[in-house]
Amino acid sequence: MYELILVRYGELGLKGKNKSQFINRLVLNIKRGIKGLAPREVISTWGRIWVPVRDDLDQTIERLQQVFGIYSVSPVIKVEKNLSAIQEAALKVLHDALPQGGSFKVETRRPDKTFPMLSPEISKAVGSYLFAHSPDIYQAEMHHPEHTIQVEIRSEGAFVYGQVIPCAKGLPVGSSGRAVLMLSGGIDSPVAGWMAMKRGVTIEAVHFHSFPFTSERAKQKVIDLCQVLALWGGKIRLHVVHFTEIQKAIRQNCREEYGITIMRRMMFRLAERIAAENKAFAIYTGESVGQVASQTLESMYTINQVTNMPVLRPLVGMDKEEIIKISQSIKAFDISIRPYEDCCTIFLPDYPKIRPRLEEAIMMEEKLDVEALIREALEKTEVLEIIQEEIIS
Ligand code: ATP
Ligand code: MG
Repeated sequence: MYELILVRYGELGLKGKNKSQFINRLVLNIKRGIKGLAPREVISTWGRIWVPVRDDLDQTIERLQQVFGIYSVSPVIKVEKNLSAIQEAALKVLHDALPQGGSFKVETRRPDKTFPMLSPEISKAVGSYLFAHSPDIYQAEMHHPEHTIQVEIRSEGAFVYGQVIPCAKGLPVGSSGRAVLMLSGGIDSPVAGWMAMKRGVTIEAVHFHSFPFTSERAKQKVIDLCQVLALWGGKIRLHVVHFTEIQKAIRQNCREEYGITIMRRMMFRLAERIAAENKAFAIYTGESVGQVASQTLESMYTINQVTNMPVLRPLVGMDKEEIIKISQSIKAFDISIRPYEDCCTIFLPDYPKIRPRLEEAIMMEEKLDVEALIREALEKTEVLEIIQEEIIS
């Protein structure tokens, strides 16, 4: 019965050229989001975006709910511009939107001023018709209705809709530039990546892999997590950095309790280089204050000194339960809890330094050839392009 889906986006603060770039990006992302379903045009007009329906309303809506930048969608019936066609459409919409009954009102907009009735008259005529043709489980309610049936009269026809289905909100991926995401196989960093994408950021994922101390399955887990993220961001480039030599050098040369601090300083140095090579301007991590030894403020301070790039930590104010909730809702959780080892855990000291001092870390690093280690790790870095369900390397 529905012919179109009306897509609403947040327009606040969007003006002039920015606005058209935002809309063009969103249209592109919508096209990519519905790829694989029946082909169709995506129409951008009258300050709105419209997606035609092809017998696949539910599937299309599900896909649109994974496109950042969309606030809500409504399935729409389009009919001839005459009152009885509008009334019949409104009845279908009411019964579909509120199958159990409930209270409703009708609202009309009339950009097409040639239509012979005024908006309040149309609302009234449609409302009375709905009331007369519905069982008494439906009540008209002007002030706090459970449902509002919207009628819009345009030169192209009359549009009738009732449901407003909430979507992911945020900004279209690709509208806010590019950043590196430090992606472990854990629960937190995929959620941080999802939150970065929600703000329109294109993600360049970096994973530190310590083969043979960490297995191929640990790497596969990260690829699978990128696939989950790619459902929201379209395409993710994953840089798998071979971190083994760096970890060995740290173990041989640095005091054990500083192992994690120095390892993470090396990670940030590498992430910064990869960012610079890929025109990325920030580093995202899944850190949250106080979670583990390397996430105390003293630790973050000492680790952060190696980079001038903004290090963004979208989970910083969140509790673990809140993070897990998002992880589950984006279907990353079951992958994240697979039990494979991570490079952070294999050389985990018994007593990591909770308050590592910057001077000490710098002193210990004097024993390492930091630049050579970085260069070697970058040379061995493998880049995978992950596009939704398939991988092209
Ligand atoms: P996560 O659940 O994301 O693994 P965590 O709570 O286990 O986080 P840490 O292991 O201390 O915390 O890691 C903190 C952050 O450092 C991670 O969220 C991630 O951004 C980054 N990180 C840790 N290990 C790796 C890795 N092997 N490759 C890439 N990034 C990593
Ligand atoms: Mg971890």
